Amino acid sequence: MPYTPSRQDFDHYMTPNYAPQSVIPVRGEGSRLWDQQGREYIDFAGGIAVNSLGHCHPVLVDALKTQGETLWHLSNVYTNEPALKLAKSLVERTFADKVYLCSSGGEANEAALKLARRYAVDHFGEKKDKIISFAQSFHGRTLFTVSVGGQPKYSQGFGPVPGGILHAEYNDLESVRRLMGDDTCAIMVEPMQGEGGLIPATPEFLQGLRALCDEHDALLVFDEVQTGVGRCGTFFAHEHYGVTPDILTSAKSLGGGFPVGAMLTTDKVAASFAFGTHGSTYGGNALASAVALAAIEFIDTPEVLQGIAQRHDLFRKRLEEINERFGVFQEIRGMGLLIGAQMTPAYQDRAKDILPLAIEEGVMALVAGPNVLRLAPSLVIPEADILEGMARLERAIERLVNA
Ligand SMILES: *Cc1c(COP(=O)(O)O)cnc(C)c1O
Repeated sequence: MPYTPSRQDFDHYMTPNYAPQSVIPVRGEGSRLWDQQGREYIDFAGGIAVNSLGHCHPVLVDALKTQGETLWHLSNVYTNEPALKLAKSLVERTFADKVYLCSSGGEANEAALKLARRYAVDHFGEKKDKIISFAQSFHGRTLFTVSVGGQPKYSQGFGPVPGGILHAEYNDLESVRRLMGDDTCAIMVEPMQGEGGLIPATPEFLQGLRALCDEHDALLVFDEVQTGVGRCGTFFAHEHYGVTPDILTSAKSLGGGFPVGAMLTTDKVAASFAFGTHGSTYGGNALASAVALAAIEFIDTPEVLQGIAQRHDLFRKRLEEINERFGVFQEIRGMGLLIGAQMTPAYQDRAKDILPLAIEEGVMALVAGPNVLRLAPSLVIPEADILEGMARLERAIERLVNA
């Protein structure tokens, strides 16, 4: 008998730092998944805002297969054609002049933070080392990025953490102004807080951060790991705001499910990443780069981006209809296909209770913190899948209310 892994095997063989749901999906196509028993699910979770083109999209499968039969990996002792094409394509679409490639969002942010520190040392000396970020922000799980992140539970209990990090309140410029000085090296901010509960920045906030950075010779770093590459309806979310960063990080949607990350910056800032200052064995490997290139060329088209706005409206309409029936949501918010529904006080912190019910009804969703239901589906999810998935979600919420 061939061995079929079970959910119990997770507890047996894997470190207990995750608590996966009971079902094990084994196959995906578009916005649908099938588990070991052949049960079908509609996927509104998208691998946590990663599967930007759903599962096994033919454009990505083709890029992966073609590159997989040509060249996988060289290390950065050599450059490779897919990495160069990807970097050029990112530069041509953005404010950036230069790209550093890596394999995850946390690594992209780690690179951004190290670059900001090195740039400050190069231009202003070692005293300019303060990094400002925000309460409830999320920037990754390396020791530096959990320390910059604004959720203390992720950095506590790991011994001495990197210093020189200050936290202000999101969407509160005055709280930033109080911390800001000529020793400020950089501000790191998500244009919409993702893990923190899907809270969009106000335009005045991002504009004000830009002005404060300019005033104090600090770098503005946008963490667009979750919001970027079409997720919010524009190629990067900051385009909605007309505010340009000095450094931007991307991952998640960028690879459509293949691990890849990127840090984008200007020529002037990039100069501080001189030869030997930073690196990664896998960063910019040919396989990841080929897939990411295919993903961004497919996503950054008027058809796909306009389609995201239409899909947003349909999700919002259905969530509002569900709310008219059950009154569980206090606010429905978000941009593009990163949509959050905050629970009312009567259902305080019960967003997570919806997830197992939703799985029983055949739809996969997410939470962002304990109090916000989060949807991050494929950017090209068919309308029929949205309607069927929302009908299933409605049944799950009905069960929550009637329980
Ligand atoms: C997911 C996420 C990260 C971390 O990305 P990993 O690929 O898990 O390292 C960083 N910043 C934001 C805003 C994220 O949503």
